[in-house]
Amino acid sequence: MSVAEVNEVEAAQAGQGLEVSSVSFAYDGAPVLQEVDLRIAPSEFVCLLGPSGSGKSTLLRLLAGLELPDAGLISSNDEAIRGPSLERGVVFQNYSLFPWLTLAQNIQLALKKAHPQSSESWRRQHIARHLQRVGLAEVADQHPSLLSGGMQQRGAIARMLALGSPILLMDEPFGALDPVNRAKLQDLVLEIWAATRKTVVFVTHDVEEALYLADRVVMLGSSPGRIIQEITVPFARPRSRRLFKSHEFTELCERIDGYFREEMLQRIEAGIEAGIEVLPAGRA
Ligand code: ADP
Ligand code: MG
Repeated sequence: MSVAEVNEVEAAQAGQGLEVSSVSFAYDGAPVLQEVDLRIAPSEFVCLLGPSGSGKSTLLRLLAGLELPDAGLISSNDEAIRGPSLERGVVFQNYSLFPWLTLAQNIQLALKKAHPQSSESWRRQHIARHLQRVGLAEVADQHPSLLSGGMQQRGAIARMLALGSPILLMDEPFGALDPVNRAKLQDLVLEIWAATRKTVVFVTHDVEEALYLADRVVMLGSSPGRIIQEITVPFARPRSRRLFKSHEFTELCERIDGYFREEMLQRIEAGIEAGIEVLPAGRA
């Protein structure tokens, strides 16, 4: 199968959405997410945007089934998510390839686990196709430590794609990359998404990245993490980086910054009020 044919097959399999209903989650009794409601349509590209500590990674881990909610429900196509599944592929920020395996062996290992019945020759072809898709065909037999951060992250994307999940979950996957590589990988993800129509949930704390990539930006506030605002991104696709200089783009960036500033102010005010309340009598 050619890359175009693979895209076609995957597009036909697309169509999985996600639903988060009144989800709360705590780590050791400390609330991290509170009453989160979110519906993600099949083939939608959603960015979760928020400051560090707002629970973006936790929400993504819940969507992946790596954590389970304390209250509420997370489901995909009306089926509750109770653990990790091949339906949902994940890429994290730190390059999660095994250093002692070559790039191809890393994908081979994941494929063997996901499709134990598959033949060696099918796996070999499948690996070659996906490495080609992300521009890494030449370095299939290299170990990750010999590759740049951008290449390692391409490898992690190839591994995720090779598993064929209709839902892709990415947690600040380009956060550690230089701006040029970051831009190239953003475009790669957009190209893959446009070709396969997979559902994408992409975590970032970068407003420009969110507006360049997403159909919809969901903003999380902190302490505990909750959704403070959502924006449907109004820019037509395909988008160009010239967009960043447009008046509409900068205005939307400012509006988003404004939501976060407002949320922070509210928290500070609420904190001060709470502080006055708990001061012992006679000390105020
Ligand atoms: P973000 O990805 O937005 O930076 P996280 O979801 O990583 O936020 O974290 C949200 C909150 O949960 C933070 O206060 C963080 O310290 C806490 N937290 C995250 N992971 C753990 C963990 N494994 N154990 C305890 N607390 C955690
Ligand atoms: Mg995080």
